Amino acid sequence: MSARVIDGRDAARRVRERVAEGCAAFRERHGRPPGLVGIQVGDDPASEIYQRNKAQQAEECGMAVERMKLPGGTSQAEMDALLDRLAADPAVDGMLVQLPVPDPLTEPAIAARIEPTKDVDGFSPVNIGHLVRGEPCLRPCTPSGVMWLLDDAGVDLEGASAVVVGRSLIVGKPQAMMLLERNATVTIAHSRTKDLAAICREADVLVVAVGRPEMVRGDWVKPGATVIDVGMNRLDDRLCGDVHYDEVAQVAGALTP
Ligand code: NAP
Repeated sequence: MSARVIDGRDAARRVRERVAEGCAAFRERHGRPPGLVGIQVGDDPASEIYQRNKAQQAEECGMAVERMKLPGGTSQAEMDALLDRLAADPAVDGMLVQLPVPDPLTEPAIAARIEPTKDVDGFSPVNIGHLVRGEPCLRPCTPSGVMWLLDDAGVDLEGASAVVVGRSLIVGKPQAMMLLERNATVTIAHSRTKDLAAICREADVLVVAVGRPEMVRGDWVKPGATVIDVGMNRLDDRLCGDVHYDEVAQVAGALTP
């Protein structure tokens, strides 16, 4: 068997089209574009690339984007003051603080302070609480993207056995909640899980977000399963996922590259 390829690039293009329509409707209603602020602290090169790409794509969709760069060493009190100012600014509809943040800032302190209705990353305890309660909220983008891909690929989640490998706050945990909400039977695996391969082999839907190059091998996958590889790992000569693509493509029914 050779797995059907789930084309994330094409799905992303269609998501951006929908977002652009939403931005146009917002502008019609409010007489201004939706305003997004991206906050970066320090000079981490990866954060720079992420922030630039997010700003560019949001602008292409029709948002008014402001990028703020704060110096390394910014205090929590300074960050709190900025987050409070943006919370009160009616022209700011959403804000993103690029993680990780350098000391002395901490992610929990930022998540606790950010205005939940403008927390487009969906990391604040209020938004995570709403997610767990199954209520409308701003939701973390990566697991939301996985749900979009699964729906787009026509995967039936009702009663399906879903295994999420990884339990981070930005991917694994919210992913499990989103799959549960759709009536999948969900197992969350992590670094202490015993016999991970056997648990993965049970999955009709396998979502892997670990950060270990090509960890999931062909014999870890149930024939015909849908496999979503969230991982992005940089090897010396190439980027790769957490799933061994060539092996798993021989077994899975559908697979992201
Ligand atoms: P993270 O915070 O480092 O969490 C990794 C998770 O994997 C942890 O829960 C950890 O378990 C688990 N894990 C580590 N080694 C394992 C092993 N040998 N067996 C089973 N589980 C193991 O990572 P993350 O932020 O969730 O990101 C995961 C991957 O997704 C990375 O490659 C990252 O680059 C990628 N990513 C992609 C996107 C995207 O949009 N495509 C977005 C975010 C992240 P413990 O909790 O027990 O330590």
